[in-house]
Amino acid sequence: MGDLVLENVQKAFGDNPVIRGIDLNVARGEMICLIGASGSGKSTLLRCMNLLEPIDDGRILLDGEDISEPGRDPQPVRQRIGMVFQSYNLFPHMTALENAMLAPRRNLGKSKTELREPLAQMFERFGLGDRMNHYPDQLSGGQQQRVAIIRALAMQPEIMLFDEITSALDPELVGEVLDVLRDLRAQGMTMVLATHEMGFARELADKVCFLDQGRILEEGPPEQIFDTPKEERTRAFLSRVL
Ligand code: ADP
Ligand code: MG
Repeated sequence: MGDLVLENVQKAFGDNPVIRGIDLNVARGEMICLIGASGSGKSTLLRCMNLLEPIDDGRILLDGEDISEPGRDPQPVRQRIGMVFQSYNLFPHMTALENAMLAPRRNLGKSKTELREPLAQMFERFGLGDRMNHYPDQLSGGQQQRVAIIRALAMQPEIMLFDEITSALDPELVGEVLDVLRDLRAQGMTMVLATHEMGFARELADKVCFLDQGRILEEGPPEQIFDTPKEERTRAFLSRVL
């Protein structure tokens, strides 16, 4: 139960087929890393998973229920499947805490009072205890990205999707964001990441999927993908990035 299952998912933009028949099973508590060249379809696949993009064919099942039927309200699914992007897009006129409170106030009907304590604990846990009342422009990129993660977690999602969330950060700020993912991993959060952080994927992923032109060309445990890739294209990609 709790699995997110993709069956033969297909997605085209106009006449450009971007996701070309992807099967993927995300089990509860698992961390899956999507790797692959720019344009291979990682972002689109993640966006399909929480219904930011409608799919053209195939199915997406959450707890065995088809969430990809056309016309279905995506909002309840997006509450269960949170997503964090490369660009953190915090509201500049709201403090970090207010940013984190916004979605659960609007979508879960929670009050500021009931949200304050659990969110304060989360800010504390992720090293931002003294930054809650700061505005985004008073925070570093790494701090803003951690706030964006807290904002997504504030909806108490069951699954989290992360799309290259460290790619826009200065190198010295990457570690503090990866530490948050490490913490979530240890807490048993189910996670799917598109990432260029190969060391991180090797350290923590249960499964690494190499995407190539909208297909999963190769998947397996990190040691297998990184140390003994079967496919020539996987080897070529890894030799460019490792
Ligand atoms: P990745 O995240 O692996 O770099 P993307 O999923 O962003 O790959 O892109 C895969 C392909 O889909 C690219 O060719 C990209 O140009 C195309 N694409 C992505 N989003 C859109 C869109 N909204 N409209 C048209 N084409 C898109
Ligand atoms: Mg992308």
